[in-house]
Amino acid sequence: MKFIGQRTIIEGFKDKIVNNTMSHAYTLTGPVGIGKKSLAHYLAKMILCTGSADSAPCGKCRSCKSFEAGSNPQFMAVRSSTQKILIKQIRELIDDIGVRPSHSRKVYVIEDADRMTVDAQNCLLKTLEEPPEYAVIFLTTAYFESLIVTVRSRVVQLKLQPYSTEELKEILEMTGIDARGKEHLLKWSMGVPGRAIDLISDSNFEKNREMVMKFVFEDELSMLDFNQYLSGKKEVFTQCMDILETVYRDILFVLYGLGEELINCDKKDKILEYAKSFNSSDILDKISKISDIRANLKRNMNYQLAVDMVTLELK
Ligand SMILES: [Zn+2]
Repeated sequence: MKFIGQRTIIEGFKDKIVNNTMSHAYTLTGPVGIGKKSLAHYLAKMILCTGSADSAPCGKCRSCKSFEAGSNPQFMAVRSSTQKILIKQIRELIDDIGVRPSHSRKVYVIEDADRMTVDAQNCLLKTLEEPPEYAVIFLTTAYFESLIVTVRSRVVQLKLQPYSTEELKEILEMTGIDARGKEHLLKWSMGVPGRAIDLISDSNFEKNREMVMKFVFEDELSMLDFNQYLSGKKEVFTQCMDILETVYRDILFVLYGLGEELINCDKKDKILEYAKSFNSSDILDKISKISDIRANLKRNMNYQLAVDMVTLELK
């Protein structure tokens, strides 16, 4: 069974399993939607596989089969059914960890570990300090810094890397999502599969993007259209500003000679054309205006005024 991407982490674990140099606690970190839980489960399956180390997880041995069926007695996942992971869930983990396995190891995954209450984290501490030698605990979190410092200092942090466009395509294919003709959305997702899936299924996104492109690249009338579009739809403002920022970011990249790195790669011709009429300080000025307007809106600037400023000052 193949896991797409994250080779550094996976190959690292293969070596550690063979050489018996695994630590007892790891935290997998990275942005929301990058696949931390999937990787933690994959590593757990790999560690528990009784086949040869080269092919682990083999998917054929008894351990792999029971893992796939969700009934491997040497594996336990802790997750929050509400927004919190409570101390009683950690106590259940500790009770289970105390029972020696008949063979090999026991693996635990605490999903969204930042949801542990401070009590729950403190409760886990002693186990993190002196875990039984057969146990491996994985924590996953997008917010590593929000774990208490004593927990943070007792785990090895492993950061997941953004996926390449090719890897994203493979992942989407595996999940049955057709990304053909949507390569620009893959760039937009910054290598995070969950983001790519959200963008592909977000029907507003393409419309918002179309409006922003018209506003930047088309004639004067588009200012009025864009103003009206934003006026009636406060909920799309943030996403439209995100999109506008990427367009200016792309123009800036062209001006700096980095035209191959565009996010809005499907609009390359228009971006190249537009870049001819501006210099980088004009564009930097526009980008800083966007963040000023965002900040002023947070400080309760009148929404229509913000919309007017966008359409008058950012064309
Ligand atoms: Zn196996």
